[in-house]
Amino acid sequence: MTSRLTQLTESIAGFNADSLRVDIAQQAIANAIQSITQTERVPLKQALGRTLANDITAPINVPSYDNSAMDGYAFSGTDLTQGEIALKIVGKAFAGHPYSQPVQTGECVRIMTGALMPRGCDTVIPQELVAAANAQSITIAADVIKPGSNLRLAGEDLPAGATVLQQGRLLTPSDLGLIASLGIAELDVMRKLRVAFFSTGDELRSIGQPLDEGCVYDSNRYTLHAMLDRAGFDAIDLGVVRDDPVALEQTLRDACRQADAVITTGGVSAGDADHTRDLMGRLGEVLFWKIAMRPGRPMAFGQINADGKSALFFGLPGNPVAVMATFYFFARDALLQLQGTTPVRLPMIQAISTHAIKKRAGRTEYQRGVMTYDAAGIAHVRLTGAQGSGILSSMSEANCMVVLAHDEVDIRAGQPVSAIPFAGLI
Ligand code: AMP
Ligand code: MG
Repeated sequence: MTSRLTQLTESIAGFNADSLRVDIAQQAIANAIQSITQTERVPLKQALGRTLANDITAPINVPSYDNSAMDGYAFSGTDLTQGEIALKIVGKAFAGHPYSQPVQTGECVRIMTGALMPRGCDTVIPQELVAAANAQSITIAADVIKPGSNLRLAGEDLPAGATVLQQGRLLTPSDLGLIASLGIAELDVMRKLRVAFFSTGDELRSIGQPLDEGCVYDSNRYTLHAMLDRAGFDAIDLGVVRDDPVALEQTLRDACRQADAVITTGGVSAGDADHTRDLMGRLGEVLFWKIAMRPGRPMAFGQINADGKSALFFGLPGNPVAVMATFYFFARDALLQLQGTTPVRLPMIQAISTHAIKKRAGRTEYQRGVMTYDAAGIAHVRLTGAQGSGILSSMSEANCMVVLAHDEVDIRAGQPVSAIPFAGLI
């Protein structure tokens, strides 16, 4: 039986499950995902990092009135003649305390930043440009100011009716301020995605247990929890599961019942993939891929079902660095898309490689790098020492991921390479 997911992936040009290009795998995943639709209403302060569920349209002009951009004096630009002019001060306008009389020709109003422009005025001269001033009048020298200067027009930030922010956006601090400037107190956001995860492996011990011979502490669950948390998802930790089909099936069903997506680590490499494949065949539709990338070659992707519920499934490799690379370059965007978030392209910087780097064409490599800036502000990058996919300390030492594209070959010292800074990502 050729199922929906298989058809979907096979319809993609260049699809090859045994050596899948990173970009093609990413596209196949993107094509397979249908976003959740549930939303919830939250107070503005709680909306940071949440996904906007509807476009925000300005109900009012921002600013809602013409006002002064400077501390100075407001007057009519038609008073400006060729030579020096004198204007009589007839009152004061402060932010929140308007001057409500019309201003006549030959008159001006002492005005502060943000104050409503008095009627009859369209120009503000900053106080430091005034030639002379006393309590009654000011003098303006010739050619120091143009009519219309230092005026902030109603609606110049946002005109009423304009679409201010688009649905799908991850809300930032400036967005919250912008929404507040429209007088909006609550907004609809997508509900948080629930992501269940667990580690697999008979050799894994949890923190607090004795480390038996031949065992390792489970670190993946901690990295995964942190990555999910940072990305704004509700992370559901289902612990460590032994390499036992019955226990695995039970935990997968349990995960599927409570979550929108399930992530496992371990058990997808060549030796294990066969058992896992049988198990997944019973639970849903999961494709086992060998991605043309390093680290992170084996990966499973699909959908599992239990009790009439289904969940997106990511079977990540077991090696700790491979977990992080496959999470960041596959799962993260997919989960954001599932949550209804418009994925944002990660910033990529061109940095000069301080050393030669070996690179084989035909796979994408994610190498851990340390980026520094020289006195001229040019970015340079060196690789952290060991780049093995089990060497998690390389991720902590690094501050960026050097991305060597599929077709790229050996890099010479002094050649530019692409790097994704960890700041903002991890
Ligand atoms: P696997 O993909 O299950 O063959 O695991 C590959 C390597 O990653 C093995 O050396 C495992 O011991 C290690 N590994 C797997 N899962 C974890 C984990 N949760 N924490 C730390 N190391 C792990
Ligand atoms: Mg294993």
